[in-house]
Amino acid sequence: MTHAINQPPSLQQIVSCLSDYDPAALPVAQAQNIIQQFVHPLDCVERIAIRQTLGRVLAEDIISTINVPAHDNSAMDGYAFKGSDLSEHGDNVFRIIGTAYAGKAFSGMVQAGECVKIMTGAVMPTGCDTVIPQELVSSINDLQVNISSTKIRTGENRRLKGEDLAIGIQALCKGKILRPADLGLLASLGVAEVPVQRKLRVAFFSTGDELRSLGESLDEGCVYDSNRYTLYGMLSRLGCEMIDMGVIKDDPDALEAAFRTACENADAIITSGGVSVGAADYTKQIMAKLGDVAFWTIGMRPGRPMAFGKIHSHGHSAYLFGLPGNPVAVMVTFYFFARQALLHMMGSTQQDFPLIPVTAKHPIRKRPGRTEYQRGILSRNATGELEVSVTGSQGSGILRSMSEANCMIVLHHDQNQVATGDKVDVLLFEGLL
Ligand code: AMP
Ligand code: MG
Repeated sequence: MTHAINQPPSLQQIVSCLSDYDPAALPVAQAQNIIQQFVHPLDCVERIAIRQTLGRVLAEDIISTINVPAHDNSAMDGYAFKGSDLSEHGDNVFRIIGTAYAGKAFSGMVQAGECVKIMTGAVMPTGCDTVIPQELVSSINDLQVNISSTKIRTGENRRLKGEDLAIGIQALCKGKILRPADLGLLASLGVAEVPVQRKLRVAFFSTGDELRSLGESLDEGCVYDSNRYTLYGMLSRLGCEMIDMGVIKDDPDALEAAFRTACENADAIITSGGVSVGAADYTKQIMAKLGDVAFWTIGMRPGRPMAFGKIHSHGHSAYLFGLPGNPVAVMVTFYFFARQALLHMMGSTQQDFPLIPVTAKHPIRKRPGRTEYQRGILSRNATGELEVSVTGSQGSGILRSMSEANCMIVLHHDQNQVATGDKVDVLLFEGLL
C-alpha cells in the first residue's frame, strides 16, 4: 500500500488493496477488517484515581516497584517450624516459643525442635519454612505440640515473598480495560493514580420522519425511537461519553447541521436509519458530501446496509457508523462492527471473547453466503450439556428477540442448515460484571 508517510490511509486506499472488494456484497469479515485498518487510537491520556478507572483503558504499562507480598508469610493459622526438623516417620514434639501475628512479627530465632504459633498473613519467623495448620497438630500442653510427619511436607502453607507480584515485573499492560481485580492489584502495589486514555466521545442520533421521541404523541404510522436507547445502553457499557442528539428529520439542512455538530464535538458518530438501498431520504447524500464514506451491503442477517467512514467539518473529523434503522439490526451491527472499532479507538488491546460451541436444541435454517446472527437462549439440559434454542421470531424489527436472548448464535458465512444436535457457535451477552 502506498500512502504519504505519517498520513493514515484513506478508505479508498484500503479498499483498493482488496482484490475482491464489492461494496454491494461485502462479507462480514472483510468489513470488520477494513474498519479495523481505518480506525486509529485517540492517544490522549489523563491521570485519575484508581477507583475512577473501572472500565477505562490503561495508557501505560504498570511495573511493580515492590514485592507483593513483601515477606514470606503464612497461608494458614497454625504452627511454623523448619521442615528438616521432622523425623522421616511418626511423631515429633515441638516446643512453642512464641506467637507471630499478621502485622506483628515474631522477632526471635527458631532453633531445632522449636515452633512458633502463627496466624494467616504473619511474617514467617527466621529459621522456619513450613506451616502446619492448627487442625492437623495434636496439642500436648500449652508449651508443646506434636507434629506428625505424615501430615505435612516441607514448604507447605508458606506464601513466598513476591509470589503475587515481584519487583520489576509487568503487573498490568497498556491497553488493558481495568476490571475490579486490577483496581485491587494497583492498590496492592501502593499505586493511587494511573494514566488512562480519555473517554471516547460518541455522538448519536436517529433519522426518520416516522420517529417520535418519548413524551411525544404517536401519530398514525409513527414509531417511538428505540434505537437511541439501545445505543445509549451499549455505549454506556463501553464507557463512552455520549452526546445524544435526538431524532433528526429526513431534511437535508437539518441532517447536514446534525452531522456537522456531531463531527465538531465527538470522536465518533453513530446514526441509525436512512442507509438502506433506495431509502427515500438524504442521509446518504449528506454523509457522502461531508467525507470519506463507504456504503455497504454486508453479507449478513440482520444488518445488510451500513455506512462507514470519516467525515469532516470546519477542521474537525470524526469516524462515522451509519447503522441500519431496524432495531435488531442496529444492535447486531453495533456489536459486530462498531464495538470493536470503538474499543480500538479507545486504545484497548483486549481480544474479543471467544465463541463457544454448543449443541443446537432444534434445527436452524441457514443458507451459505452470509453470516447470520440469531438470538439464542443458552441453557443446560438434563444431562448437564449446554444447548441453545432460538428466541422465537427473528425479524430485524423484533427487539423482543434481543431482550429475551442471553446469547447471540453466530452462523458463519459458509455455514449451511443446522440440524438438531449440531454444534453452533454462541457469544454470551453477559459475564461477571
Ligand atoms: P430505515 O433504515 O431508515 O429504512 O429504517 C428501517 C426500519 O427501521 C423502518 O421500519 C424504521 O421505521 C425503523 N426504524 C428506523 N429508525 C428507528 C428508530 N430509531 N427506532 C425504531 N425504529 C426505527
Ligand atoms: Mg428511515
